Amino acid sequence: MTNLATLLVNSAAAHGSRTAVRQGVDALGYAELDERSARAAALLHTRGIRPGDRVGLIMPNTVHFPVAYYGILRAGAVVVPMNPLLKSREIDFTLRDCGARLVLAAPTAAVEAVSASAETGADCLITEPVAFEALLDDDLAVILYTSGTTSTPKGAQLTHRNLLSNTATTVETLFHVGPGDVLFGGLPLFHAFGQTCALNTAVSAAATLTLLPRFDATSALEIIVRDGVTVFLGVPTMYTALLHAELPDGFDASRLRLAVSGGAALPVEVLHGFEQRFDVPVLEGYGLSETSPVAAFNPPDRRRKPGSIGLPVRGVELRLVTHTGTEAAPGQIGEITVRGENVMAGYWNRPDATAEAVRDGWFHTGDLGRTDDEGYYYIVDRKKDLIIRGGYNVYPREIEEILYDHPAVAEAAVVGIPHPVHGEEIAAVVTLKPHGSATAEEIRDHVRTRVAAYKYPRLVRFTDALPKGPTGKILKREITVDPVGS
Ligand code: AMP
Repeated sequence: MTNLATLLVNSAAAHGSRTAVRQGVDALGYAELDERSARAAALLHTRGIRPGDRVGLIMPNTVHFPVAYYGILRAGAVVVPMNPLLKSREIDFTLRDCGARLVLAAPTAAVEAVSASAETGADCLITEPVAFEALLDDDLAVILYTSGTTSTPKGAQLTHRNLLSNTATTVETLFHVGPGDVLFGGLPLFHAFGQTCALNTAVSAAATLTLLPRFDATSALEIIVRDGVTVFLGVPTMYTALLHAELPDGFDASRLRLAVSGGAALPVEVLHGFEQRFDVPVLEGYGLSETSPVAAFNPPDRRRKPGSIGLPVRGVELRLVTHTGTEAAPGQIGEITVRGENVMAGYWNRPDATAEAVRDGWFHTGDLGRTDDEGYYYIVDRKKDLIIRGGYNVYPREIEEILYDHPAVAEAAVVGIPHPVHGEEIAAVVTLKPHGSATAEEIRDHVRTRVAAYKYPRLVRFTDALPKGPTGKILKREITVDPVGS
């Protein structure tokens, strides 16, 4: 198997009449998806697209996304998916950076796409879309742009082999998905988590993917019931939203057999609350765009541990490296490094960034972790989110877990703010549950009585909503806390 699109061709051959994807009233069976993506590939060919060319894809989660995605792959080209909410300046950057020859855009993203493509000289097809090229496993399939909020975005180059191996691992060893399954498609498909774990996983197993163009708890609950979702996938903020949402009358999610969380730390309180409310096991995993994405997962057939990201998945090795470059002992904190068939083929046109990130085949994640005596991994925090107060390390995640434990708190983020004496001071920004009430002092004391004195937040601020990225991850870097204001 060489081309990622063979996942679709195989499922169409064996299960042509099954529903592949649906969104609202639109549905495509496997045979139809196969045929439409072949036509899209032919169209790209007539537009001069050849193997290895980069093609931008700007589409929300509708049935047209998989048509275009597999169409580009079938043409032997490289998919460069983008968030449909991007403005022309941002699209322009990505098109130029990867040297895209063509952009496929949904009508809703047309204005921005057309103006960016005019600037960069790329051809632009506004689409309500319409024989594999020989490829080697190590040819590029997709370029995912990451780290948009911290530095200049970099394109993580993923090969067919990277994505196929990670998809096979997910289908066969983690979710055990088959043709009878219905996967929840609320994660954006332009991001690694949704692309591998929802789209390619569903298509590989001839399961159905039910799409939600924009996540909100009410629509999510509706399609879980209507379509008989068996596997829910989400980032922690989706779990929090579903945990506090009102359930419709006669709500029945009895077909739900598995819930998967990733992309950010799932607070233990939220995991337990969700399992209780929806009567389904929640398994947390860990990954990055650069690792296609899944690197670790709680084993479905062995004990899952709340708060842990589980064990390295099939075909992937993890190693913790301390700041002195040695391997961390059990319990000791180190940077998580990853090696395996899922690790990207470097950043597009960024040899320096690639050399810094991938050393001796080990990808350095920038995440700090530790293991327990059974080899389970725990994310302590991201290296760059670590707060150093008066010379002591404070890991925001530890404090956030305690905040989530407070009965009135819905979501929490802990950040460091500059301080003249301590270097950094600890601040907590929280949202309250719909009927929750608490004062800043109560919340501060809740933490103060549970941790060493240097760790509790001196500043507690309330907000209506925390800033979130396109996948629903809380964006710490966009949180500002005024040290004197409220
Ligand atoms: P992305 O490349 O957008 O998928 O982001 C990858 C980053 O998400 C990682 O470097 C981690 O910081 C974070 N992440 C993913 N999964 C988890 C998890 N289960 N717990 C904590 N952080 C996570």
